Amino acid sequence: MPAQTHLFRCLSDNYGVLLHDPATGATAAIDAPEAAAVEAALKATGWKLTDILVTHHHADHTDGIQALKDKYKCRVVAPAAEADKIPAVDETVREGDKVKVGNLVSNVIETPGHTLGHIVYWFHADKIVFAADTLFSIGCGRVIEGTPAQMWTSLKKLRDLPDDTQVYCGHEYTASNIKFALTIEPDNAALKARAAEVTQQIAKGEPTIPVTIGAEKKENPFLRADIPEVAAGIGMAGKPAADVFTEIRARKNKF
Ligand code: ZN
Ligand code: FE
Repeated sequence: MPAQTHLFRCLSDNYGVLLHDPATGATAAIDAPEAAAVEAALKATGWKLTDILVTHHHADHTDGIQALKDKYKCRVVAPAAEADKIPAVDETVREGDKVKVGNLVSNVIETPGHTLGHIVYWFHADKIVFAADTLFSIGCGRVIEGTPAQMWTSLKKLRDLPDDTQVYCGHEYTASNIKFALTIEPDNAALKARAAEVTQQIAKGEPTIPVTIGAEKKENPFLRADIPEVAAGIGMAGKPAADVFTEIRARKNKF
């Protein structure tokens, strides 16, 4: 049976998401930004929390873990490289490990850059990736602990997932990301079309995610640093892609 998801907003601009296996009843929260918001989502769906899959140690992804663990006795899965900074961890995982939620199976992909231990969970059969603060719609996470070159390598791993993979990310930043992206590729027709679509979604109070890897490849400048036209457009024709990425990331930090 295919996975079901329930997406909700919490804190100032975070997304929470529940993943549910209808065959077994298992339900995972991907990160736990805020216990009350996760509990409200459980109430709204009638699902019972069995697992929390943690992507990285930042407080806006982990603050709700302890209270949810105390209440639901759920399993907490976290990246091995930063488990010491995450509360109530039961299992640690690394690149290539598989994590099941009921009968749903994910592969762990390590994506260092935003934090050094950041991981994403790819449910390949369900065509879903939980990318947290590595890949945003039309953006990417700030490079806080790693290097820009590391982040570029991590983003390429996500770009290599099948085009029809649905990306759930950790924050609603799409509108401001698009404003910036248009400064890098003002003539990108797909990006301009997405800008119009996102304006409508936001006016209606709808989320701008999930998005597909296929669309992001056409529209997200942080996945396009190795396209000659993108490099040329910012005056870096012929430069290595990691350097082009680094420049785009630096410009976004100042935007
Ligand atoms: Zn973060
Ligand atoms: Fe975050």
